[in-house]
Amino acid sequence: MSLAHGRTYLAIPGPSVIPDAVLQAMHRAAPNIYEGALPDLVDGMIPELKAVARTNGKVAIYIANGHGAWEAALSNTVAPGDKVLVCANGRFGHGWAEMADCLGIETEVMDFGRQSPVDPDRVAERLRADTAHEIKAVLVVHVDTSSSVRSEIAPVRAALDDAGHPALLMVDCIASLGCDRFEMDAWGADLMVTGSQKGLMVPPGLSFVFFNDRAAEARARLPRVSRYWDWSPRSDPEAFYQYFGGTAPTHHLYGLRASLDLIGGEGLEAIWRRHATLARAIWAAAERWGEDGPMRLNIADPAQRSHAVTALRLGAPLGSKLREWTDRQTGVVLGIGLGMSEPDDPKGTGFFRFGHMGHVNAHMVLGLLGTVEAGLKALSIPHAPGGVAAAAEVVAEASMAAEQPDWQDTAAE
Ligand SMILES: *Cc1c(COP(=O)(O)O)cnc(C)c1O
Repeated sequence: MSLAHGRTYLAIPGPSVIPDAVLQAMHRAAPNIYEGALPDLVDGMIPELKAVARTNGKVAIYIANGHGAWEAALSNTVAPGDKVLVCANGRFGHGWAEMADCLGIETEVMDFGRQSPVDPDRVAERLRADTAHEIKAVLVVHVDTSSSVRSEIAPVRAALDDAGHPALLMVDCIASLGCDRFEMDAWGADLMVTGSQKGLMVPPGLSFVFFNDRAAEARARLPRVSRYWDWSPRSDPEAFYQYFGGTAPTHHLYGLRASLDLIGGEGLEAIWRRHATLARAIWAAAERWGEDGPMRLNIADPAQRSHAVTALRLGAPLGSKLREWTDRQTGVVLGIGLGMSEPDDPKGTGFFRFGHMGHVNAHMVLGLLGTVEAGLKALSIPHAPGGVAAAAEVVAEASMAAEQPDWQDTAAE
C-alpha cells in the first residue's frame, strides 16, 4: 500500500518548492524581447534584487545555474595563473575550488572538514603569511548545502582587514539568500553569487553575481574576459539584450517578478525569522529522536547551522532507506547525503537532508517531520518518541512569543 498520492513535497535543498504564483506567472505566451513591458520589468527588478542581497553594488544576471555564477565570478576577477584561497567545509566549497582550478587559477584549499564553519583565525594567519599578496581572492560558501554548516562572513572580512590584505572576499550564497540573514555590504563581501532555484523560489536557470567597486576594479585590470561571462555589459546595459548576452530568459523573468513580489510582501526580516523558527522546529525533532538511537544533526552547534537545509546522519544505509520509504509511502522526497562518504560508506547512504528553503511553512515542516517519524517507526530504526511534538512546541512558542501574532492581524481584517 502507498499513501503517497496527493500533493508531493520535494524537500530537497534545491530546486525548492515553487510557489503557485511563480508557476502561474510563467504560464503565458512569449513577450517581445526588444522593447515594451519586458525591459521595463527587468529594470524594475534590479533594485529589488540588490535589496534582497543587501547591497548598493551591481548585479549581473546569467542564464545559468549556480555553477555558471561560480565561473562568472572567477572569470571577471581572477586571471589564469593567479591564486585564490578557497575555504571549504563541504562539497560546494570543493566544487568552487575545482571550478577555479579548471580555469587555470592556482587554487589553495583550506579545508575545515564537514562539521565546522570557516575559522577566521586560520584565514587571518594564512593571509598574514602572504606578504607578497599573491592571493587575489578568498572564496567562502556562506551555507554549504552538503554539510548544512553556516559560516560567519563578517569575521572573514575582519581577517582580511586586520592582515591589511587586498584580496577580494567572494561569497557563495546560493543556498542561503532569502533564507539565512546575509548582509553583503555591511559584512564586507566584495562579490556574492546566488541562483534562482533555492531561496528565490524560481526554477533553476538563472543565476546572479553581485559585485562592488573593488570587484569591478579587479575586472578592469584583467586583459580580457570571455564575451559571454563578462559582467560589464550585463550590469550596465546600453541595450536590453546586453543584460543577457542574447535572448532574455523571458519566462524565468516573469517567475522572478512573482517571487520578488512574494518576498516584498512578507519582508526579508520576516522571511529570515520564518526560516529560523522552522529550522529550530526541525532541530528540536531531530534532537528528540536522537535521545535514543542513531539520529544525529551533522552540525552540533545551533549557531553554526543553516536555516535553509539540515544534514542528518543515521548511519549506513539507513539514510537511504528512510528516503526511499518517505518517497514511496508518503509523497515526501528527502535530499541525499551529498559528499558525505565515510570509510565504510562510500556513497554516503548514512546521511540524508531536509531542504526547508523558500516557500515552506509550518504545516509543511510539521508534515515533513511526521512522515520521518512514521518512517523511523516503520523501518524499526531506534529513536526516542515525541520528535513531532517537540517541533510543534517550537512552532507554538514562536507564535505565543510574537507580541502581535500575524494571524491576529489577519483575523481582524
Ligand atoms: C546548489 C548550490 C550550488 C550549485 O548550484 P547549481 O545551480 O546546482 O549549479 C553551489 N553552491 C551552493 C552552496 C549550493 O547550494
